[in-house]
Amino acid sequence: MLIPTTAIYGLKSSHLVDYQGHKLQQDTAVALATMSAAAKSQGIEIQICSGYRSFAAQLNIWNTKALGTRTLLDIDSHPVSIINKSDKELVELILLWSALPGTSRHHWGTDIDLYDANAIAGKNLRLITSEYQESGPCGRLHTWLVQCSHEFGFYFPFQQGLSGVSPEPWHLSFFPVANQYLNQFKLDKVTSILDDTDIELKEVLMAKIPDIVKEYVHRVAPSPTYFDASKPHRL
Ligand SMILES: [Zn+2]
Repeated sequence: MLIPTTAIYGLKSSHLVDYQGHKLQQDTAVALATMSAAAKSQGIEIQICSGYRSFAAQLNIWNTKALGTRTLLDIDSHPVSIINKSDKELVELILLWSALPGTSRHHWGTDIDLYDANAIAGKNLRLITSEYQESGPCGRLHTWLVQCSHEFGFYFPFQQGLSGVSPEPWHLSFFPVANQYLNQFKLDKVTSILDDTDIELKEVLMAKIPDIVKEYVHRVAPSPTYFDASKPHRL
């Protein structure tokens, strides 16, 4: 598949399609529609709370967290103050829950954050781990996705002990296409994009980009190796 270079870093979205108000990569949208229909037959209403996110949107998240105008969360999802934090500490804290602009899998249109609209209203969703545990409102959704999502080409890239990014039981990736984006990700390209960007904590960042890319872009859970688009599910 020919992937526009700038699409890898969230700088292009014209090739994406609309899916319920979110932009998604075309094959991802088709697979998600099929998977959602299968989930619906089990009483689960799959809804997206985040699909494609642009470089500019990710930059806004990064800068507002760095400046303390957006809530920063620690590893247990508790709010933490930016006061008395060094720039290095701030970078580490932001990276717990937010990607460095240019390195988010949400730039690709292949990755989505999901919840069960039958169990929780979108406005009440906090996107924290406890909501996706067995007793949480999205527990059934999560269990179903663990069992079935690979049949539709999806998997969880952020898992305990397998990824640099904290485990995200709400984040699914359409691996047949996402893996191609990952293979074409270039450290020097994202470095030059960020060098030309007005981003907070830039000095610390520029020195750390190789480590960040290694840990947060390339260290993800291994995807299933096989997907047959002509047999996407076992309905
Ligand atoms: Zn996500």
